[in-house]
Amino acid sequence: MPVSEKEILDALKTVEFPELKSDIVSLGFVKEIAIDNSTVRFIIALPDPQYKGRQKLIRDANMVVNNLENVESVAIELAVLRVEENRNQPQPGTLNMKSNERLKGVKNIIAVASGKGGVGKSTISANLAAALAADGHSVGILDADIYGPSIPLMMGISETPSTEKNKIIPIEKYNMKMVSMGMFVTAGDALIWRGPMVMKALTQFFDDVDWGELDYLIIDLPPGTGDVQLSMAQQITVSGAVVVTTPQDISFLDVTRAVAMFQRVGVKIIGIVENMSYFKCPHCNEETEIFHKGSNYIQAGQLGYPLLAQLPIDTKIPVTCDEGKPIVLEDPTSEIAIRLINLARKVHEMIQKKE
Ligand code: ADP
Repeated sequence: MPVSEKEILDALKTVEFPELKSDIVSLGFVKEIAIDNSTVRFIIALPDPQYKGRQKLIRDANMVVNNLENVESVAIELAVLRVEENRNQPQPGTLNMKSNERLKGVKNIIAVASGKGGVGKSTISANLAAALAADGHSVGILDADIYGPSIPLMMGISETPSTEKNKIIPIEKYNMKMVSMGMFVTAGDALIWRGPMVMKALTQFFDDVDWGELDYLIIDLPPGTGDVQLSMAQQITVSGAVVVTTPQDISFLDVTRAVAMFQRVGVKIIGIVENMSYFKCPHCNEETEIFHKGSNYIQAGQLGYPLLAQLPIDTKIPVTCDEGKPIVLEDPTSEIAIRLINLARKVHEMIQKKE
């Protein structure tokens, strides 16, 4: 038997809004509860879109509902409460509701995430996208790594997108459409972002870019579990996330955190990609495990998600990165390219099965 609305409301009554010394249900902040078997969705409408405790509030609400029997996933959207008008009507806007109009020409959205930086997330985003495009899919890349955008460099793009009828026209290269914050700032500029600015930038990337019709939009997220991830989950329905890690204890701890965060905000995880798993000597072909491989394979399994690919360290990767051409296009028969192409095909298959 699915969970009932009453059980959900009772659980949410335990979530306090400390500033008003009451719970979020009594205050009328919980809206539009929808139950679909074991999936529960609802809106939390807050009077102040910049309320500092919003992440904790969502976390707590998510936890209490997730703890109910027969609930497997919880998706919470934030909205703004119009206090002076109708308390029952959340106002779409500043704190961004999901909108059916948003990215409506895009069939599948795949987020590429990692617990920490430097594990090869952008390299994998770029190659996953390029491999899907090479297989004949229409593909876009949204470089949402606003703190350190690297897609322009990896794709050899130095132009700034033009605008037409108030829409940003993505740069097209290698049969893909691309937009990155790195296309709008001077190289080397430090980007300092605060929460509300992040949301605004993302909304613009979603709403103000002429993405057209796409089979896949690959979103290269910043590392970690911050405002961009949360804001993305609030604004759009992601088909699934690919989480990149290296077989190293520290990045594994981080990836566990990233996985937990996606579960909390209701983004499905397609699987894990383990990068820099081994080094194959170009001279003698001997494989060397760089980060004591064995123990971490077991951990990858323990996360409960498919291990989608294990990629070697390949000295050509940094070179292709500097040359601005993904390795799946530059050297498609190399071992790493074949693994990346197989990764793209596996992701495609998994997405098709879900549809
Ligand atoms: P992230 O997006 O996680 O910060 P990047 O994709 O920018 O990571 O990769 C970080 C660095 O590691 C880059 O210089 C990239 O060329 C290099 N790199 C990534 N994957 C590999 C690999 N499999 N073999 C060799 N170098 C790699």
